[in-house]
Amino acid sequence: MSRVTNALCREIRLRANGRCEYCRHPEAMSAVPFEAEHVIPVKLEGPTTAENTAWACFRCNRFKGGAVAGYDHREQDVVRLFNPRRDSWDDHFEMNNGVITPRTRIGETTVAVLRLNDEKRVEARRTLIKQGLW
Ligand SMILES: [Zn+2]
Repeated sequence: MSRVTNALCREIRLRANGRCEYCRHPEAMSAVPFEAEHVIPVKLEGPTTAENTAWACFRCNRFKGGAVAGYDHREQDVVRLFNPRRDSWDDHFEMNNGVITPRTRIGETTVAVLRLNDEKRVEARRTLIKQGLW
C-alpha cells in the first residue's frame, strides 16, 4: 500500500512546519502544492509510514525520484542522500545568500541529485529572503 492517506499527509505537513524538508522552501510561498514523498522509495519496499515520508516541494520530489543515493565523481563511489528522518539539515547544509552550501559528502551529493542550487531556485530564495518571507 503506497497511497498516503489524508491523515498521514496532514501529519507529515505539520511535522515539516510547512517547509520542504530538503530545500527548506516555504510551502506558503510556492505556486505548486508540496507532496508527501517516500524517503526510501516504494520500489525499494519503503513503507508508507510517518517514519519513511517527508514533506517535499515539487522540484525536490521530482529530482529525487526513486533515488536513495548519488555518485561522487571525484571519489568515485556511491554516497547516500540526506535522509530528513534520521539526519539533521544543519549538519549537512547551510544557507548562504540563497545558496545551499553542503557541509558533508551527503550534503554535496544531495545538492547535486536534487539540483538544490539551480539558478532559478537560488533566485527565488534570494527574492524571498529580501522580502523577509524566507
Ligand atoms: Zn524542496
